[in-house]
Amino acid sequence: MGDLPEEFPCTITNWEYIYGLCRTVSDDVKADDFEPDVVVALARGGWFAGRTLCDFLGLDDLTSLKIEHYVGTAAKGDEPEVRYPMPEGSVEGKDVLIVDDIADTGQSIAHASEYVNDRNPNAVRTATLQLLQTSEVEPDFVGERLEEWAWVVYPWNFIEDMIDLTESVMEKAEAEQFSEGDVRSLLRAYHEIDPIEMEIAQPDRLEEVLTEMERRDVIEYAGEDCWTVP
Ligand code: AMP
Repeated sequence: MGDLPEEFPCTITNWEYIYGLCRTVSDDVKADDFEPDVVVALARGGWFAGRTLCDFLGLDDLTSLKIEHYVGTAAKGDEPEVRYPMPEGSVEGKDVLIVDDIADTGQSIAHASEYVNDRNPNAVRTATLQLLQTSEVEPDFVGERLEEWAWVVYPWNFIEDMIDLTESVMEKAEAEQFSEGDVRSLLRAYHEIDPIEMEIAQPDRLEEVLTEMERRDVIEYAGEDCWTVP
C-alpha cells in the first residue's frame, strides 16, 4: 500500500463484482473489433483480469510483466521499473492487450506499454478494470471509472490488505487491546469501511483476518475475544 496518509477511504470488492468488470472490459474489446493475439497481465494485480479476459475473448496466449514500485526511501521518487522481462517473441508482430486491475498514477500501464512497444508488436491496447481520476494515462478499455479516490481491496488480496489495514489502525489507536467490534469501528473511522457493506461484500471474513494475523504473529490473543499488538 506504500506511501498513503493515516486516513484514506477503502472500498471492499468481491469476486462477482470484479468478474462483472472483466465482462465489461471484454465486451468493450469486442465492440471495438480489437482481436488481441496475446494478453500481457501486469503482476500481480492484473492476473485474475488477464486470465478471465483470455477466457471471455477465446485466447490461450497469456503472459506476465512485473512493474516494480519502490517504496524504500533510497529510491523514492524513482520511476517504476520493469521486472520479469517477457520471453523472446512473446509480443513481436502480435496484437497485444495489456491488462491491470486499476490505474492510479497510471505509471504501471505507461511503463508496460513502453516496454511492449519497444518489442515490435503489431498493435498495443491497454485495459484496466478500474480507473481513478488521478491517473495520467487513459487506458483504451476501462471496466469502471471511480469518481472518488479510494484504495480498492480486491478479493485476490483480501487477507493481505485487511491485515495491513487492521494492523495499522490498531497501532494508531490508543487502546491496549481490541475486540472484533473495536476493529470494525476503527476500520470505519480511518478508512470509511462501513461494517454492513463489508459484510455484504465479504461475509464473515473479519474473524478469519484476525485468526490469520494471530497465526502470522502480527497480533496476540489476550483472552475474552480480544487481541493485542505485541
Ligand atoms: P499505478 O499507480 O497506476 O502505477 O498503480 C500501480 C498498482 O498499484 C496497481 O496496478 C494496483 O495493483 C496498485 N494500486 C494502486 N493504487 C491502488 C488503489 N487505489 N487501490 C488498489 N490498488 C492500487
